[in-house]
Amino acid sequence: RVLLREGLLNSVKLAKIEDSENPLKKTGCCGRCSNGPLVNILPHGYFYSHVTVNDVEKIVEKTIKRGEPLEELLLIDPVTNDRVRSLEDSTLYKNQNFYIMEDIGKCECDSIEDYMARGGYSSLIKVLSQMQADEIIEMIKNAGLRGRGGGGFPTGLKWEAAKNSKSDVKFVVCNGDEGDPGAFMNRTLLERDPHLVLEGMIIAGYTIGAQKAYAYIRAEYPIAIQMFQKAIDDAKKLGLLGENILQTGFSFDVEIKEGAGAFVCGEETALLASIEGKRGMPRPRPPFPAQSGLWGYPTLINNVETYANISRIIRDGVEKYRLLGTENSPGTKMFSVTGPLKVTGIIEVEFGTTLRKIIYEICGGLLSGEEFKAVQIGGPSGACLSKEFLDMPLDYDTLKSADAMVGSGGIVVITKRTCMVEVARFFLDFTKRESCGKCIPCREGTMQAYNILEKFTQAKATKEDLENLEFLANLIKKTSLCGLGKTAPNPILSTLKLFKDEYLAHLNGVC
Ligand code: SF4
Repeated sequence: RVLLREGLLNSVKLAKIEDSENPLKKTGCCGRCSNGPLVNILPHGYFYSHVTVNDVEKIVEKTIKRGEPLEELLLIDPVTNDRVRSLEDSTLYKNQNFYIMEDIGKCECDSIEDYMARGGYSSLIKVLSQMQADEIIEMIKNAGLRGRGGGGFPTGLKWEAAKNSKSDVKFVVCNGDEGDPGAFMNRTLLERDPHLVLEGMIIAGYTIGAQKAYAYIRAEYPIAIQMFQKAIDDAKKLGLLGENILQTGFSFDVEIKEGAGAFVCGEETALLASIEGKRGMPRPRPPFPAQSGLWGYPTLINNVETYANISRIIRDGVEKYRLLGTENSPGTKMFSVTGPLKVTGIIEVEFGTTLRKIIYEICGGLLSGEEFKAVQIGGPSGACLSKEFLDMPLDYDTLKSADAMVGSGGIVVITKRTCMVEVARFFLDFTKRESCGKCIPCREGTMQAYNILEKFTQAKATKEDLENLEFLANLIKKTSLCGLGKTAPNPILSTLKLFKDEYLAHLNGVC
């Protein structure tokens, strides 16, 4: 079997090389797009990079017909600089914990038959045929799954609250808004393994007694939308979705709602308002969506990555699931790593992995000439951490104790060449523009804080500005209505705490 990305697949088809013995299949991104076009040949696992159409005949003659590798096309490991036979042999892959992404680059992501051949939908069948709703909730609680969208709220408790809400009408919502710049974990899952997410949503619907689900996916993700729609259509054809699923009497439908790209719509009450056709603005809680969500009905809302964990937990059981991660943050987390590193992109590691391992072992360290200064973690409203935090295990509670958060899973590596005051200004520029304007602390406060930061970067700030900035940042954090405002000052507060010398340098006329 030969797996190719779409562009190369079309070229090879044009070259008329495919035959019944050597079927060509399309696969999704395997995380090495910077080395593309890529060809993965199974069962040998030979992984070729920078392939051109001129290489195709050699690949067919030598590798497909004779089973031998073409040394000159094998991937170069970014850490060791050696050529590796397969992707699994590379340092990049060996140091990760692929669990949610275990089939990446190996599966036909738009084929339900391929998903089922990998064991897909067996968790749904098990749930429908053998498990009661309370049993499923107990299992998710015991697995310790926490929401992957940022807050880390225990998923089992959320499901329990939605199940216990009395109503004949209930909804399930999948949050695929992913508005953070540089984060594309949700996109990766929806494009590479859409049925994994869909299966989790159907199990959620059965558990809480819902009849309908909405997948809120940002419109800037056309491939993810197309792949997820195909997954919905194919599941319906096989009776896994729609009326009377697998003759169990359970009916459930899923519809895609395209988001218009507002960062605030990642906040769950704003997202629900957007699905209802209103302006995407958060509202105070309680009532929580599990009690009163879409059109006032109980609504369970989880992130794409959270749903992707569900069928794995049912498949593997609690004990196996808990082998990865820490006591209070079991399982894995996908992170989107950017910055001047040898390798950037989406990675998956177990909770408890250190920043040092991610930066130096998985991503191969910094590019030559660059020197580490800080890491910004958790999206645009995440905290900036200095090199003292490189050995801190990444999990919900440890990050919280450092005034940081897992957030969406964005990791931006910052080097000595970058001014930390400028970093704070940059991120505040984003959050102030994305503020929905509903509450004053966020709407006015982020604007005022941004103006002060601009004075610093122009070497016009005074000591009073420094005091005002800290006061304002704490005020916005304490008094804003939703998570956007409450976390927007994080880049300011963390840089004031760990890099105050840079603010002081600006006071002295350095810019
Ligand atoms: Fe809107 Fe900001 Fe208030 Fe949230 S905190 S409701 S984004 S103004």
